[in-house]
Amino acid sequence: MIKRVLTTLTIAGLIAVLCTANQAYAAADLINPSFEQAADGNAQKAYGWQDFQGGYQRALLGQNGTYGIRVTKSNTAGFAGAYQRIDLNQSSIKPVLVDGYVRGSSIVNSAGGYFGAGLYAEIVLNDGTVAYWNSPPNLGTFTWRRIGFNTGVLPHVNKPISHIFVIPVVGLARGTAYFDDIHVREFEPNQSAVTLTFDDGEISTYTEARSVLDSHGFDGVTAVVSGLVGDDGYMTQTQIEALESSGWEVVSHTVSHDDLTAMSASAARRQLANSKSQLQNMGFVIKNFAFPFGAYNMALIAEGSKYYRSMRPYETGDTPQGAFTPYETKVRSVISTTSVAEVEGWLAEAKANGRWVNLVFHSIAATGDDVYHTDPAVFAEIIQAVADSGLPVVTFDKGLDMFGAPTITPAVASTPITTTQTPSTSPTQTNPTSNSNSTAQSLVTDAFANVNSILNSRGINITIGN
Ligand SMILES: [Zn+2]
Repeated sequence: MIKRVLTTLTIAGLIAVLCTANQAYAAADLINPSFEQAADGNAQKAYGWQDFQGGYQRALLGQNGTYGIRVTKSNTAGFAGAYQRIDLNQSSIKPVLVDGYVRGSSIVNSAGGYFGAGLYAEIVLNDGTVAYWNSPPNLGTFTWRRIGFNTGVLPHVNKPISHIFVIPVVGLARGTAYFDDIHVREFEPNQSAVTLTFDDGEISTYTEARSVLDSHGFDGVTAVVSGLVGDDGYMTQTQIEALESSGWEVVSHTVSHDDLTAMSASAARRQLANSKSQLQNMGFVIKNFAFPFGAYNMALIAEGSKYYRSMRPYETGDTPQGAFTPYETKVRSVISTTSVAEVEGWLAEAKANGRWVNLVFHSIAATGDDVYHTDPAVFAEIIQAVADSGLPVVTFDKGLDMFGAPTITPAVASTPITTTQTPSTSPTQTNPTSNSNSTAQSLVTDAFANVNSILNSRGINITIGN
């Protein structure tokens, strides 16, 4: 591994350090995040970025600006990419967003591989333990897409962070990937909020939930299946209009509520595009989307981002400041067995840690065909608990304003780091789209092994939910 000793601070870097003082997030960021600056005396390499194993080349193909980097692998063994270490020296736990852009050509995973092309991080905590994480695999041939993750959703990042090795990589895969505009941003967990979502556009959203929310002055969110509007058991257009005009948000939930990962790309595209246009033709304002069954993959995310500000899976948890949208918001699924005390616990946790809780309900009814219903009396108590928490109740779109990562690009910042430390020679892979990230470390040996064969054959993950 090449030892990195950088001693020069450029004029551009110095100016950037001075300019980042007023950012909402901490000033720390990677140096030369867009690869525009060549390494001293070597135009093939980017200043501040080291070779990771098979290495990289600076390339005249940038997502933004002139340059990016190119990583090519001719076989599926091993790893190739770039890396940079960023020192955060946190004294308390703060969420950190790691994001960037990738485009790919014929990326194919190995049989046991999960990296594809993506961002991999080795997150060194202040007690010396290392937490590993990687973005979901990007496979096949695709144009620029935004990728990343927020350490605030990783339960195994449970101590302040000392430093992070950020590694754009093609791992255990072959093909050519380009990377650009890779940033690291640390956020202050200084606000909390609750969103009340009702999935599927069922009639009980109007007949049961509405009056309870009204009595507290809360606005909810309804995730509507466009093809089911007005069907037996579902709200009519007029009823949904009444919700929206009183302050509710209407979210698209496809045309037919089928699993998008189980259909052709063109069929999935029609579901994404047509549900939005159909709901808009009814007069609704549609900004966001929710995946049926929480089932998604990176190709769907990339396609859906043409139509939606965000796309919500069904993964358990709450959402930190600087969440990597569109796919990293979490849900707290309220089902028939969910107790009021459980919800109170979620609210208290969010309040203590500066988090956003999205409580997702389905039918509000005493009985149901499955667990996706909440007894009306319990529902009233849950909404009372929300009121008692004192947390602001916001629509999903407002929640994104409060907790989503800003779209602005931070300036280049930070002085070059002099270090002899390097990332692991054997990266540890994780399945980030699993629904069981409460045990993220064990995913490597546990959940990953279970779903690996499916993932490799289809490049997807299906999470539990509705
Ligand atoms: Zn649904």
